[in-house]
Amino acid sequence: MSKLLEELKEYLNKRNQYEHVCTLLYWDMKTGTPKLGQAGHVEALTHFSSESFAMSTSEKLGELLDKLAEPGEFEELDDTWKFIVKHMKKDFDRNRRIPAELYTAFVQAQAESGNAWEEAKEASDFSLFAPHLQKMIDMTREITGYTDPGKEIYDALLDQYEEGMDSATIDRLFEDLKKELIPFVKAILAKQQPENKAFLQYFDPDAQKKVQDMLLDYMGFRQEAGSVGETEHPFTLSFSSKDVRVTNHYYENDPLSSIFSAIHEGGHAIFDQNVNPEYDNTVAGSCNYMGLHESQSRFYENILGRNKNFWIPIYDRLGELLPAFKEISLEDFYREINHVKNSFIRVNADEVTYCFHIILRYEMEKAIFRDQIPVEELPALWNQKMQEYLQITPANDGEGILQDMHWSDGSFGYFPSYLLGSIYDGMFLDTMREELGDVDQLLRDGKIGEITKWLNEKIHWYGSTRKPKEVISTVCGREVSAEPLIRYFKEKYAVIYGI
Ligand code: ZN
Repeated sequence: MSKLLEELKEYLNKRNQYEHVCTLLYWDMKTGTPKLGQAGHVEALTHFSSESFAMSTSEKLGELLDKLAEPGEFEELDDTWKFIVKHMKKDFDRNRRIPAELYTAFVQAQAESGNAWEEAKEASDFSLFAPHLQKMIDMTREITGYTDPGKEIYDALLDQYEEGMDSATIDRLFEDLKKELIPFVKAILAKQQPENKAFLQYFDPDAQKKVQDMLLDYMGFRQEAGSVGETEHPFTLSFSSKDVRVTNHYYENDPLSSIFSAIHEGGHAIFDQNVNPEYDNTVAGSCNYMGLHESQSRFYENILGRNKNFWIPIYDRLGELLPAFKEISLEDFYREINHVKNSFIRVNADEVTYCFHIILRYEMEKAIFRDQIPVEELPALWNQKMQEYLQITPANDGEGILQDMHWSDGSFGYFPSYLLGSIYDGMFLDTMREELGDVDQLLRDGKIGEITKWLNEKIHWYGSTRKPKEVISTVCGREVSAEPLIRYFKEKYAVIYGI
C-alpha cells in the first residue's frame, strides 16, 4: 500500500471516531435522553461534529486527496479506493467552493426555518413560514451556484440526492405515470371500497412490538447487527454494516402503521447490513442515493408486504401476537392494506395514489426553481394540483403544503427519490421473476430468504459504488422505465377491485 494511502486511511479512521460519537449521540437523543439531558447532548454533539467537519474540510485532507488523484498514484489504488478517492475529492472540491460565512448563515437559517415551519404547521398558517421558505430557496440557489457552477439549479439539486438522475428523465417517467394512473385511480374509486370497522379497536402496543420483532426476523434483519428503538417518526440509522438501527412508533388504534413502518425500515436496514463490510466507514459504504435506498424499503413494504402471499406463512403468528387479527380474515386484511383512496397526507397514502403526492411536489419544486413562482402563490398552486390529481382540496395548509418538513431545511430535490424508488421496484420485480421464477410462490412457501439473498447479491453488496442508473442497467439490463410499475399496479388492482 502506498504511503499516501496509508496516511489517508489513518486520517479517516480518526475522523470516523468523531462521527461514530455523533451518530451515537444522535441515536440517544432521539430514543432515550431525558428532557433535561438534551442540552448536554447538544453541546457534546456540537463539539464532536465541529471536529469532524474541520477534519472533513482541512487543507491536510485536500492535499492528500489531490496527491492520491494524480495519475501515478491513482493507478496504484484498487477499485474500492479509486471510488473512495474520486468521490471524496469531488465532494471536497464542491464544498471548498462554498464561502464559510455563507455556510454558517445557512445552518443558522435552517434552524430558524425548522422552528418556523413547526409553528406554522401547528397553526396551519403558511404566512408564518413563507419568509423562511423564501430564504431557504434563495440560499439554496446561492449555494448551488458555488457547488455546481454552470449547472441548471434544479438538476443540480436532483443530482445531490440521486446522482446521475436529471429532470429530463424524471419528466418522462412521471408523465407516463400520470397518463396511465389518473384514469386508473378513477376506475378504482368507482368500485366498492372495503369495510374496515374491525381495524377500529385497541391494539396493545407491546404486542405490536413483538409483531415488529417477528417481521424483522422473518425478512432477514440480523439482530446481532441491529437493534430497535422507539421514536415519534420511524427512521433507520447506520453506524456500519455491523450496527444498523431502526425505530418505530406504535399507535393503539392503528396497528397497520407500525406493521408497515417495521417492514419499510427493515428494508432500509437489510440494505445497510449487507453492504460489503470492506466499505464500512467510507463513502462507499451504506448507500448515498436516496432513490435507490428507498427502492429497497419500498420493495419490502409494498411489493412484498402488500402481497397477500407474504402473509400466508405468518398470518397465524400475527394472530397469536395480536389476537384481534384472529377475527380478521386474511382476505379482509389484504383488502385493507391495499385500500386505494384519495387522501391529503403523503405518508398515509396507499401505494398507488402515493405517486400523485410525489409528482405534485416535484412539479412545485420545478415551479419554484424554474418558473420563479413567488412563495405567496405556492399554497394555491398546491391546492390546484391536489384537485387536479386527487380531486380533493385541503381544508387548511396544515394538511396541505405545510405537512412535510423537507423544504424547511432546504432539502429541495429530495421528494422525487421516493417515487423513483417505486419505479425501480417495478423493474427489479420483473428481473427477479425472470431469474427466480414465481415470486408469489416463493412468498407463499415462506422462502422470502431467497428474495432477500437476491437483493443482497444484486444491489446491497455494492453500497454506493454503483450509481442508480448503473444499478438499473446492470441488474435489469435496460433503461429506467415506469412501465413495469404501471403494469404491476394494473395487474394487482384490477384483481382486487374487479376492474
Ligand atoms: Zn424510507
